[in-house]
Amino acid sequence: MWKKLSKQEINEAVFSALRQNRHYKHEHVLGIPVSHLDDKVFYDNFEMLKDAPFLSTMVDNPNHIGCHTLGESEAFFAGTQAIERELVAMCAEDIFKGDEGEFDGYVSSGGTETNIQAVWIFRNLFNREFGAKNEEIAVICSDDTHYSGAKSANLLNVNYITVPVDQETRKIDVKILHQTVAEAKARGIKYFAGIVNMMTTMFGSVDNPQDYIDAFQANDVKFHLHVDAAFGGFMYPFSNNNNPVNFQNPYITSIGMDAHKMAQAPFGTGIFLIRKDYMQYALTEEAQYVSGMDMTLVGSRSGANAISVWMILKTYGYYGWTEKINMLLYRTNWLCKKLDQLGVEYYRDEHSNLVTMKSKFIPTELAQKYALVPESHTKENKWYKIVVMDHVSIDALNLFLEELEQSLAQTDEGVLV
Ligand SMILES: *Cc1c(COP(=O)(O)O)cnc(C)c1O
Repeated sequence: MWKKLSKQEINEAVFSALRQNRHYKHEHVLGIPVSHLDDKVFYDNFEMLKDAPFLSTMVDNPNHIGCHTLGESEAFFAGTQAIERELVAMCAEDIFKGDEGEFDGYVSSGGTETNIQAVWIFRNLFNREFGAKNEEIAVICSDDTHYSGAKSANLLNVNYITVPVDQETRKIDVKILHQTVAEAKARGIKYFAGIVNMMTTMFGSVDNPQDYIDAFQANDVKFHLHVDAAFGGFMYPFSNNNNPVNFQNPYITSIGMDAHKMAQAPFGTGIFLIRKDYMQYALTEEAQYVSGMDMTLVGSRSGANAISVWMILKTYGYYGWTEKINMLLYRTNWLCKKLDQLGVEYYRDEHSNLVTMKSKFIPTELAQKYALVPESHTKENKWYKIVVMDHVSIDALNLFLEELEQSLAQTDEGVLV
């Protein structure tokens, strides 16, 4: 498991990496259409930046275009690319239990890109290896899946199939899943990209990959599984270490996680992880000017993003991160106990920091005041969620609960009319 580093060790590692990059100012870099941040606008005072490795990387502005865990990469930014490689390995091996050196990956713009990247790779693999036509391919996932699953199917011109979940347990209805796959097969769909959720956006529910594997095998169809851990990737593996959603499961081909959610990194820090020998299916051979070519969806991207996530993980260390997650769980348990006392009904996975309350208990004004997020802004809304993050302290939760208690006391049966 990765170790915690001191501030000084982190500074040294990042500044040493920056020195290994080609520097736009101190060297003659004539051929690339990128530069350091504009110093008429952005502060580049050496004294101020010398203890600020992330800001220094922002100002230096290395471009991490491409994927750096395989083949060649742009030599200009080799120093910070090496840090990104280490980050990918920490996530694939320490968090998701993959074997050492067996994974590729990169820092994407976020969970949306990560999901599209996975479906893109699977679609091209089905096309190339089996001669599959796009109409014979489907993305399949639960109704609670993030809408980027639908985006990916739309962009990649493949079918999109969803499976209902139980409204109370948020579990996939396994019988309907089997039927749905059988019906799709009868319509000529023979190749499936299954999206397994590790914490859905609205409920924090976690799918069982075996449900999909059973349904695909029973129907004798080809498939690959991608785990959408955009929300849960920096939470669930720590709060429920024995869960079955990881690379020990040979059917899980790729996993995506967002550092800009639970890990409090800047936006633009999705992390895409995939077994070796799959990235090539997203190779764009026309990308001739990029050394090592490009196997990512995004193209140019900031090297500072990778540095930020690496710094966060190294500041805590694996066990320090586990402690931080446990503090969030402690607060969430506290919140749930209070909701139980008030008789407010909610959904929560016991290892999650997300509590989704039935809207009939929550006055609209209170939801607005405390910025609770509704399940739907357009249809009739049935749920409001609280996400227990670093800034969501017990004191803050308590203010909300006191007001909630008052408004429930004014109603007949603890339910708003
Ligand atoms: C937020 C989220 C996404 C999309 O991630 P972005 O970083 O906003 O692109 C995908 N899946 C899940 C489960 C999410 O919570």
